[in-house]
Amino acid sequence: MIEADLQLTGATIWPSADRGVIRDGVIAIRKDRIVAVGAPVAMAPVRATKSIDLSGFLITPGLVDAHTHLALSVARGATWRGGHPVYDVFWPMERRLDPSLVESLARLGAAEALLAGTTTVNDHYFFAEATATAVASVGLRAVVGECVMTGDGPWSGRESVQRTERFLSEWLKNDPLVTPSIAPHAPDTVDDKTLVWCGRRAAELDVLMHLHLAQSDREVDVISTRANRTPVQHLRSLRFGEPRILAAHCTRTDSADLDTLARWSQMTVAFCPTVHALDGRVLAAADLHDLGGRVAVATDAAPNERRSLHSELRVAGAVQGTMTGKGAAAFPPSTVWEAATEVPAAALGLPVGALRAGSFADLVVWRTDRPNTVPFVDPAVMMVGALSDRDIEGVMVGGQWRVLDGELVGVDVDEIVAEARRAVQIAWAD
Ligand SMILES: [Zn+2]
Repeated sequence: MIEADLQLTGATIWPSADRGVIRDGVIAIRKDRIVAVGAPVAMAPVRATKSIDLSGFLITPGLVDAHTHLALSVARGATWRGGHPVYDVFWPMERRLDPSLVESLARLGAAEALLAGTTTVNDHYFFAEATATAVASVGLRAVVGECVMTGDGPWSGRESVQRTERFLSEWLKNDPLVTPSIAPHAPDTVDDKTLVWCGRRAAELDVLMHLHLAQSDREVDVISTRANRTPVQHLRSLRFGEPRILAAHCTRTDSADLDTLARWSQMTVAFCPTVHALDGRVLAAADLHDLGGRVAVATDAAPNERRSLHSELRVAGAVQGTMTGKGAAAFPPSTVWEAATEVPAAALGLPVGALRAGSFADLVVWRTDRPNTVPFVDPAVMMVGALSDRDIEGVMVGGQWRVLDGELVGVDVDEIVAEARRAVQIAWAD
């Protein structure tokens, strides 16, 4: 007999990319974890305090967004104002931010993410404690890092390392939803000594090192002048051990760089389809995957106007198909789905991204009664190509419903929007 607090019954369950669907399945949940998943005939009977019949719905794992800046929902549309989004648009605006504004903006970004079926984000921004507080308040799971920058940009210098140490000491204490990371901005904005400190500290604490890598022409020029190498080769040459690394972008890479990334045992690269396409330089995600590298999909910030990883999935396959000339075969739906669930989950070191005993109860309930869901073919094709955010009925994080009937629950959405509006006005004031 399986004892549970809650069982979800009757739904079609797609537990992970490497498994088929389970029809009329059961998910048993105790506290914040899944204790059993399967067809009733193939599992021990479940005795649950509460049972919910979800016949007619599809249940999948929640999506894991490998690279976000939740507070940068403030920059919606900023790309179209001209200039480089990071250096010319964000940095001048970001000098006006403070922890309270970042918290309001991160809450908006977190609300958007949950409504789009994202249950975990990997966030990288200034005032990490504000983002951590924001995600915890709306019930989104997050790995959060304080942006470390030693030169350029706002909030840079030695204090950013001190802020990181303070954030680690306050949040490395088993918060149910927030896990800290160490987050150097990028090789061109962080000096080598500090990059090495970040890597060593991440390895020592077994936390993620989360950075941007080979993301701009400027970074390539700076690293070429400093070290006469590419950003990827430069990072690899630094002696900081083997922490888990999530490197966003890698859009300025040659074939030797791709080989290095593929062979780097603890490296996962974030592919941000819309951001890359509108930057005009796209990560060779399909090639990297074919070489044996780990590729996760992510939303990032501008030029992406939506905090919806799910809406990036179809773009991911289309962009790689075009870029490689291989069409649909380049980055097929099952690979895309893994890149939005299990691959980033492994990089973050969290038991999410698949529905199995021991995983956090982080899941999405999808409607399958709309015109766009008939016929219901291969689940990867349906999830990547046919379903959209508006087909989401429910989102659960850690056994708690955060979205029901397509609406956020347990938070005051009007207040989130009103506070974010105020923060946007201050951030963009002339
Ligand atoms: Zn980024």
